[in-house]
Amino acid sequence: MSVCRRCGREIEWAQGENGRFVPLDLEPVFVIEGGGNDQFYTDENAVIVGRVARPEEESPELPVAFVPHWKTCGRG
Ligand SMILES: [Zn+2]
Repeated sequence: MSVCRRCGREIEWAQGENGRFVPLDLEPVFVIEGGGNDQFYTDENAVIVGRVARPEEESPELPVAFVPHWKTCGRG
């Protein structure tokens, strides 16, 4: 577990396919794959592309993944 030096929130590190480490938010989200161009990281460090599901779209059938922290850093 690490803490973001900028906003002080707890983050987790994932290693992307290109070997770079990416800071992730701790809270996973449901992802609509193909619904957008945002990148998310799964438990297996696989990258999926899409967008965060809206509350009314959330479903156990959707993939769950983690948001790169730079998307949310400084917010909330
Ligand atoms: Zn931060």
